[in-house]
Amino acid sequence: MMQARRFGSLDHEVSAIGQGTWQMGRDKRSAVAALRRGLELGMAHIDTAEMYTGSEEIVAEAIAGRRDQVFLVSKVLPQNASRKGTIAACEQSLRRLGCERLDVYLLHWRGSHPLQDAVAGFEQLERDGKIGAWGVSNFDTDDLEELRAIAKPGRPVCNQVLYHLEERGIEHAVLPWCETHHVALVGYSPFGSGRFPSPSSAGGKALAKVAGRHGVSARQVALRFLIRRAALFTIPKASDPAHAAENAAAGKLHLSDSDLSEIEAAFPLGRAPRSLPTL
Ligand code: NAP
Repeated sequence: MMQARRFGSLDHEVSAIGQGTWQMGRDKRSAVAALRRGLELGMAHIDTAEMYTGSEEIVAEAIAGRRDQVFLVSKVLPQNASRKGTIAACEQSLRRLGCERLDVYLLHWRGSHPLQDAVAGFEQLERDGKIGAWGVSNFDTDDLEELRAIAKPGRPVCNQVLYHLEERGIEHAVLPWCETHHVALVGYSPFGSGRFPSPSSAGGKALAKVAGRHGVSARQVALRFLIRRAALFTIPKASDPAHAAENAAAGKLHLSDSDLSEIEAAFPLGRAPRSLPTL
């Protein structure tokens, strides 16, 4: 069974491992099949964005007739995040996605529009029932503090940030901040966006050792590690159905404290970054 957990301040539970959709458009048929396979196996959280050209249309095809099984997230580009622009961008995403409502709508990263304007747009969209809640992406702790001062209680519901074995910078401050304020931390690019540790590297060997003990793959161990705390979610992208199935099965894996310590040692946290790591 896929693990599900409370998503920030929201009442309902969301699959800890979800599905990314960036750069999915190269083989549309396979991408649709992968998303459907992932959904069948419990990866209900689907992450897309207006920026991911063609991806919202692929998601539309994959979720047609099963919208109620999906926790659907999309994002507004910062240049569109004025009050009116946020509303218009959401309406366009809904049209491309072929549905009437997003579960969560995110500001993709902070841009030049005042945060108040995006928040006003999000609040209007919530009142109109076009989104269930809103969150942010690529926000550091100072941005989060500023946002919290203007947002209503319980918002933002999540912060989506770069998080994989070789980039654990968010563990210094952003993750603790999110845990304190009941904000879901959604880690993106869990496989380093295509740069997963090679089996011959020291980290790759350590992963293989843990994986061997459990009869699973190194990537499954990595995904499980990345959701080891209750506030954490991860959204691997797979346009191959076999990859989606492998990723979903990581939701059933249990790692012991000593497994986790071995992984921690092989992929050290490192120093606190001066600014938030992004892709
Ligand atoms: P990723 O998930 O770290 O890696 C994707 C790559 O891993 C693809 O080449 C995929 O291949 C491969 N892969 C997936 N599962 C595999 C498996 N079981 N075995 C072997 N290879 C596997 O990269 P990402 O797309 O950068 O990040 C994930 C998602 O995070 C994005 O799709 C997007 O939704 C989100 N994201 C958000 C931001 C932001 O600023 N908010 C930035 C970047 C990403 P196939 O496609 O061939 O299956």
